Amino acid sequence: MLGRAEALARFGWLAEVRWRDVAEQFPVRLPRGYLAGANVASDPRLLTALPADAELDFHPGDIPDPVGEQARSPLPWVVQKHRDRVLLLLTKRCHVYCRFCFRRDHEPGAGEDPSADEWAAMLDYAKHSGAEEVILSGGDPLAIPDARLFAAMDGLRPEIPIVRVHTRAPITFPSRITPRLVAGLRERAPVWLFVHVNHPSELTVEVDAALARLVDAGIPVLNQTVLLRGINNDVDTLVALSRALVARRVFPYYLHHPDAVPGNAHFRVSIAEGQALYTSLRGRVSGLALPTYVIDPPDGSGKHPVPLLSPG
Ligand code: SF4
Repeated sequence: MLGRAEALARFGWLAEVRWRDVAEQFPVRLPRGYLAGANVASDPRLLTALPADAELDFHPGDIPDPVGEQARSPLPWVVQKHRDRVLLLLTKRCHVYCRFCFRRDHEPGAGEDPSADEWAAMLDYAKHSGAEEVILSGGDPLAIPDARLFAAMDGLRPEIPIVRVHTRAPITFPSRITPRLVAGLRERAPVWLFVHVNHPSELTVEVDAALARLVDAGIPVLNQTVLLRGINNDVDTLVALSRALVARRVFPYYLHHPDAVPGNAHFRVSIAEGQALYTSLRGRVSGLALPTYVIDPPDGSGKHPVPLLSPG
């Protein structure tokens, strides 16, 4: 990991940033591998990983719980918005704290992980929820050790047939995708892996190799992208990203409208801009390369497709 002093030396423009104030709101973590080769201030990896003063700005559109999880949380570390799916937050830790993330309720140290009792209670809840699918999320569920991840999966079976792992680790920390991890996921099939790539520059040689290890093992890999101002809010970037994912055998599943959490206003685009971009994207890629453009509203009803603009 890059420390603060090293990051300041490497990225001179950060000297003006109120780093400590920003990091108090949401931690900063900078893996060397993820930032290798990213040196100009406009690089999407730097823009989404480095702290910025804009995170401290108040915006009238901010919503503290932008996707309505609090009212749908029957117990700590569990969210259930749909009868057939349960979301388990295995940790609050991540390899990178993406500056646009909607889950920013993170205090380093105590409270980063479920207690033993909370862990047992969330698995027990999921097993008896009647759900068909459990989504292992966080934080990043691959920020915890293999043994703990596999124990969670094994604890859910046989009641829960489908396990989904929502992780950025193949992108932000590709060395985490070890042969041991891949073998363990494969043994526990059906396991579906959902990754999160926002820009083609994130698809480095190391990331390609990590994705290939997963796909070659027969693990289905799907991608979710967040539409972000200054990162991917142009159609050429979205087209290039979708095609690059398909070429790597990763299905471009969702294009998310950004969630309006306090601290990420500088990344947000309007619905109208998103609709226009998506209409252009739809005209330029095949059905295989076209994600569904979705929004997750604050009423907690879950993701919905954004209405499309009519042709012409
Ligand atoms: S890895 Fe995922 S959960 Fe963690 S900060 Fe990034 S987007 Fe948020």
